[in-house]
Amino acid sequence: MEADPLEKLTTDWADYTFNPWIGCTKVSDGCRECYAHRQQDLRFGRVEWGDGNPRSRTSTSYWEKPKLWDWRAYYYKNRPFVSCGSLCDVFDPEVSSCWRDDLFRLIEETPHLVWLLLTRRISEVVQFTERLPNNVALGVSISSQDEYNRDAPLLREAALKLHPIFTFGNFEPLLAPVTLDYFTAPKWVIVGCETGPLGRFMMPDWARNLRDQSAVMGLSFYFKQASELRSGPSDLLDGAHHRNRPNTLNREWLLGHRDWLDKLLSDTGYRGPAPDCSGIAMPERHHQPN
Ligand code: SF4
Repeated sequence: MEADPLEKLTTDWADYTFNPWIGCTKVSDGCRECYAHRQQDLRFGRVEWGDGNPRSRTSTSYWEKPKLWDWRAYYYKNRPFVSCGSLCDVFDPEVSSCWRDDLFRLIEETPHLVWLLLTRRISEVVQFTERLPNNVALGVSISSQDEYNRDAPLLREAALKLHPIFTFGNFEPLLAPVTLDYFTAPKWVIVGCETGPLGRFMMPDWARNLRDQSAVMGLSFYFKQASELRSGPSDLLDGAHHRNRPNTLNREWLLGHRDWLDKLLSDTGYRGPAPDCSGIAMPERHHQPN
């Protein structure tokens, strides 16, 4: 029996993947080889891609899973990342706002998870979203300099209005070189080539440039996969893994989760005075895949 495709899609840059619904419309050149379209429409026939076609909401039992992940995160004292919407776009205007409200309610009920909301419709976020749950990180998918110039300022505007934990740019598929700028660069830069049988080639220099710009600007950098020139692991850039994630244990979050912090300290045998969160500085996390 084939495994549940929703479960199979968990990716390394996140700890879990959750899809509140399935279906979308292609809105950019970067969507050309969309694997969600290939898999869920062309292969499984579960939904038809495009405007005017209904999206398919995932099951009630599937919607319960994040609560289990949240309980685990509380118990193990970590903050896993949940990639939300690998088979859809959370800010798709074809989706009823009730569905989005249900999703935001679920996000609020799972405060130990960091929900990564990634969109190609950042203008929708700026115009129509009044608030985000406080355990959300907001990101845009960017494939070229034109998209960066258009969407990075909107991401910054959305961040100023909605206060996500951090912003991120998913440069995947990266189809051209991109130059970041200090004022609009997202805090987390993720880079990957286009996958699939007709995936377009990503020049290694485009990824190197983003890696080096991230280092200069103090941004976290995550490299997902390179276009294959020869055999060997494709998640290496110049022979090295790059799997940095932004720090999410910030002062505000810790202050709001005092019981969680106390449990962490008692479980680790800490006997000193209660820490003063005001000066807390957590090191950047270097993610180790399981
Ligand atoms: S926005 Fe994302 S899910 Fe939607 S068509 Fe484009 S690549 Fe696919």
